[in-house]
Amino acid sequence: MNKLSKLNYKAELVGVFGHPVDENPTIIMQEAAFRALNLNWRYLTIEVFPADLEDAIKGIRAFNMRGINLTIPHKVEVLKYLDEVTHDAQLMGAVNTVYRRDNQLIGTNTDGKGFLTSLNLDAKIDPRGKKVVILGAGGAARAISVELSLAGVKEITIVNRSPKRGEELVNLLREKTPVNAHYEPWTSAFPLPSPVDILVNATSIGLFPNTSQKPNIQYDTIRPNLVVCDVIPNPPHTQFLQEAEKRGAKTLDGLGMLVYQGAIGFKLWTGLDAPVKIMKKALSKEFGV
Ligand code: NDP
Repeated sequence: MNKLSKLNYKAELVGVFGHPVDENPTIIMQEAAFRALNLNWRYLTIEVFPADLEDAIKGIRAFNMRGINLTIPHKVEVLKYLDEVTHDAQLMGAVNTVYRRDNQLIGTNTDGKGFLTSLNLDAKIDPRGKKVVILGAGGAARAISVELSLAGVKEITIVNRSPKRGEELVNLLREKTPVNAHYEPWTSAFPLPSPVDILVNATSIGLFPNTSQKPNIQYDTIRPNLVVCDVIPNPPHTQFLQEAEKRGAKTLDGLGMLVYQGAIGFKLWTGLDAPVKIMKKALSKEFGV
């Protein structure tokens, strides 16, 4: 056989559409996973302006891409350009991962599942029957609160600066899931109710480069039996988690959520189990931890 007939120069393509997208670190963990499994796949970090999203989605089909991640500001807008959207992503009204099946583009949301997996595997917590306080009502808070509700938490309190966003999320949880949900305004240092089992920072407070910031809560209301979680992946060891550690609480950083949500996408795209440890190691090295 001619040696050239064995060669295949074509890579399979996935990636992320966002604006801004320069600092999105997903390429680091996905390409580490492709290398580890010897896959000729590439993860492209692509700047897509809001007005170009429809054309960019057509581009997935035109370039025969295997899928895409969506980040700010495309997670909601993308729904109208897809062939199908999974049930939980419909509930959240947001898609962060698109994959192909029989030439159909299917949208799903892996953020909340990534958080749940990290809660189960890294913190060894089963959320069923628990009382949860979530700071924030944006995309991450929506994904986490919907998945926690579907997983059987008993009560969720949403604490958010903008009442409109907070109340909208609570209404969604009450109407579409079995959880007992409440909204609390966030105008001054928030005291944690008692009893509470899990506290989640799902705001962007503390994200690089604003690493000295922390959510405005009454930190002396943190008890040692509380599980305190942060969605911020960079830096993983946020001021918020450091305050919780000082008070003896168990903590969970945002790195695990990032890796596990990406691992679900990896499996949907490639059909293979993601090398989670390798992905986490690559990201930790990138973030200098
Ligand atoms: P959104 O912009 O949708 O929501 C941001 C939320 O933070 C809102 O609730 C907003 O309140 C609140 N907020 C921001 N600044 C302040 C402030 N100074 N005081 C009080 N509240 C504030 O962003 P996302 O939900 O998409 O992302 C939030 C964070 O989650 C980001 O840092 C992102 O990096 C992280 N993330 C992590 C993931 C992971 O895998 N680890 C996955 C996805 C996101 P308001 O409504 O009042 O504006």
